[in-house]
Amino acid sequence: MTTDVLVLGGGMAGACAALAAAAAGARTVLVRAGPGATALTAGAWYSAPPEPVAAALARAGLGLEQGGALPHPDGRVVEAAFAPASHAAAALRDDGRPTLVCAIAGLPSFHARALAALWADAAAVPATQLIPVVLHLADTPAGGWAPLSLAALLEREPHRLSESLGDAARRHDADRAIVPAVLGVQGHALVRDAVERATGVRVGEALGSAPSLPGWRLDHALLAALQHAAVRVITGRATAHAASGNRISQVTVGTEGGVVTLTTATIVLATGKFVGGGISAASGFRETALGLDVVLERFGRSFDHPGEALVLTDPVRTEPQPLLAAGVTTNAASQPVTASGDVVFGNVVVAGSVRAGVETATLGLGAAAADGWSAGARSAELARGTDA
Ligand SMILES: Cc1cc2nc3c(=O)[nH]c(=O)nc-3n(C[C@H](O)[C@H](O)[C@H](O)COP(=O)(O)OP(=O)(O)OC[C@H]3O[C@@H](n4cnc5c(N)ncnc54)[C@H](O)[C@@H]3O)c2cc1C
Repeated sequence: MTTDVLVLGGGMAGACAALAAAAAGARTVLVRAGPGATALTAGAWYSAPPEPVAAALARAGLGLEQGGALPHPDGRVVEAAFAPASHAAAALRDDGRPTLVCAIAGLPSFHARALAALWADAAAVPATQLIPVVLHLADTPAGGWAPLSLAALLEREPHRLSESLGDAARRHDADRAIVPAVLGVQGHALVRDAVERATGVRVGEALGSAPSLPGWRLDHALLAALQHAAVRVITGRATAHAASGNRISQVTVGTEGGVVTLTTATIVLATGKFVGGGISAASGFRETALGLDVVLERFGRSFDHPGEALVLTDPVRTEPQPLLAAGVTTNAASQPVTASGDVVFGNVVVAGSVRAGVETATLGLGAAAADGWSAGARSAELARGTDA
C-alpha cells in the first residue's frame, strides 16, 4: 500500500495529525497498536484543541463546552478549560442551590459523603450545598456493578437511574445532581437527556478514573472522526522500516492478519510514551516504531537505561519526573535529532507525548491535539514535494 502521509500512533496526537493531513488533501493512513493514554483520560481538557478538531469531535457526538472546577472521583477538583458537555455540567460553583452528589449502591470507588466534603473544600463551595445520597437501582447484582456494564445497562434502560434520582431530588428539593461517569457508553448524550427529562434535574457526570469511560468515549469519537475524514486506519504495531539516505520509504506493520508493508512519502511519529508502548524501558530505553534514540539527561549526565530509575525519579511525587519525560529529541521543525542535533530522518515529524521533555500526564489533550494537527499539516506539505 502506498500513501502520502503515514501516521504512527492513534492517540490524540496521531488522530489529529491524520485529520490535518487528510484535510490538506493528502492520502493518509494511520497505524495504531491500540488505545493509548488518550483512552485513559478523565474527561477534562486543560486547553482547547484546534477548531477543526473540536468540530470533528462534535460531529462524532463529543461536543466540548467551557469547563470549570470539575469533580474527580479521587477527591480532587480539576480546573478544566473545556470538557465534554456531560462533565462540564458537573462544574462546581457556589450558586446557593443544593446539588446532589450521588453514589450508586454496588458501584465501587465513589463514596458520596467523602467526595461531597472533599469537593466542597477544594472548590470553596459551602458544604451544605453538596448533599451526599446513595441511589439504589432496581436489580442491583449481588456482586455490584462494573462501571462499563452499568453504563451499557443505563444506555438501554435510563429509567433505572431516573426513578431513584427523581426520588432523591424531591426529598432534598434539589434540581442538580453529580453522578459517576456511567451515563451510557456511546449514546451518552441521549442517556443524560432522557434522565434530565424524566426527573427535571440537571445532571452532570464526575470525571472518570482510569480505565475511564470518558477516555473510552473519546477514543471512539476520534476513530469516528478518522472514518468520516476517509483516513484508512490499520490496527497493528510498526516494528521495522526501510530507509534510503536519511528518508524512510517503507514501514513494516505487524497486524492480526499478517505483516503489512506501507510505502510512504512522509511519516508522523505520534506513538506516545510508556502507556501506549511508544517508548519501552524493558532493556534500555527504546523508541519502538522507528528505533530512534531515547536518552535522558539529569545532573549533567546522560542515561540510556532505566536501571538507574532512582536517579531519574524525583522523590517528591508531585515534582516533574525525568523518567516520565523520556522520549525522542526533536529540533525546532519537530524532526527527530541525535544528541548532537543531526536530523535522523528528514521525512519524519514527531508529535505528542513521544517527544523528550514532556510527561504524558501533564501534556494534556489540547496540547497533544494542537501538536498533532501541526505535524499532520507539515507532513502533508512535505509530501507534496515528494513522490511516494
Ligand atoms: C491516567 C491518565 C489520565 C489523563 N487524564 C487527562 C485528562 O483528563 N485531560 C487531559 O487533557 N490529559 C489527560 N492525560 C494526559 C493525556 O492522556 C496525554 O497527554 C495525551 O493523551 C497524549 O496523547 P498521545 O497521542 O501523545 O499518546 P497516546 O494517547 O498514548 O497514543 C499513543 C498511540 O501510539 C500507539 N503506538 C505506540 N507504539 C506503537 C507502534 N510501535 N506502532 C503503532 N502504534 C503504536 C498506541 O497504540 C496509541 O494509539 C491523562 C493521562 C493519563 C495517563
